[in-house]
Amino acid sequence: MIIILKKDADPKQVESLVKWLKDRHITPNISTGERETLIGCIGDVAKMDIGLVQALSVVERVQRIQEPYKAANRKFHPEDSVVDCSGVKIGAGNFQVIAGPCSVESVEQMVGIAKSVKAAGATLLRGGAFKPRTSPYAFQGLGQRGIEILLEAKKETGLPIVTELMSIEHLPLFNDVDVIQIGARNMQNFDLLKEVGSMTKKPILLKRGMSATLQELLMSAEYIMASGNPNVMLCERGIRTFETAMRNTIDLTVIPMLKRLSHLPVVIDPSHATGYSYLVEPCAMGATAMGADALIIEVHNDPAHALCDGVQSQTPEMFAEMMQKINALRPYAWKR
Ligand code: PEP
Ligand code: MN
Repeated sequence: MIIILKKDADPKQVESLVKWLKDRHITPNISTGERETLIGCIGDVAKMDIGLVQALSVVERVQRIQEPYKAANRKFHPEDSVVDCSGVKIGAGNFQVIAGPCSVESVEQMVGIAKSVKAAGATLLRGGAFKPRTSPYAFQGLGQRGIEILLEAKKETGLPIVTELMSIEHLPLFNDVDVIQIGARNMQNFDLLKEVGSMTKKPILLKRGMSATLQELLMSAEYIMASGNPNVMLCERGIRTFETAMRNTIDLTVIPMLKRLSHLPVVIDPSHATGYSYLVEPCAMGATAMGADALIIEVHNDPAHALCDGVQSQTPEMFAEMMQKINALRPYAWKR
């Protein structure tokens, strides 16, 4: 439910309305926009007397929300959200490129790649320490040592780091991580979502599950937000379809659609979405043109010998060339 306040609403009366809502175990979410001020109500509003609220002198009107996601809903929060990743802002016109290898392999690899992607214009650094692999025999990541290496690369370059959390018990190792990634395979790990919602306010890069609908993605974002962390970014990383020519099918329609449904920033991952380094540039350009708030790109200094996802990893040279094209395209990007 949304309560739309009158323009000249008396702050004291608004305060008492907020208290009245809290007394009824409703969490009020106040959003002050240019055009109007709203109070989004989260909780069991079914038993609430709407007539009573509507009759208050500060209330313009009351609107019920049909969609099951509330906090993530654009109706709840008409302005675009900005997620602050240790000073690097994503959303509402702030565009960023996250780049780095699939997996952290060594200090030399990580620091070398961090320096080259930074020089090319990347503003955040990615690298997997805990890796979700289809095969139990494949490289599983360096774990805690991987995070230490990421922090060294951050110290060398100043780039905030993005890395995946797979298990609740690893959260204490993420104290100095700037952005926590929840991978496609864990999009509906509800215990993990509740944990990153309640135990931290760090930005969460939430990846769409391989066969998840947008409503399911938004409901997963809702889990994090309803648990107390509003800093969520939605990431499209390709979905599984009947097509086998590409690793996944990139669904760029989600950019305008998610922006219609939600106020959260939209990030596109053309590396996992396509599976081939030669497809990354055209899809990254498409995503930029369609108004993505950020891109996340896999870059490796020696893709042929990468321990994970080498085929889809750009070389630093490819990345630098792509960045020039993306920067040239940015002024023409679609805006809502
Ligand atoms: C990754 O970013 O390396 C990764 C495993 O991504 P996804 O969860 O999208 O497969
Ligand atoms: Mn990968």
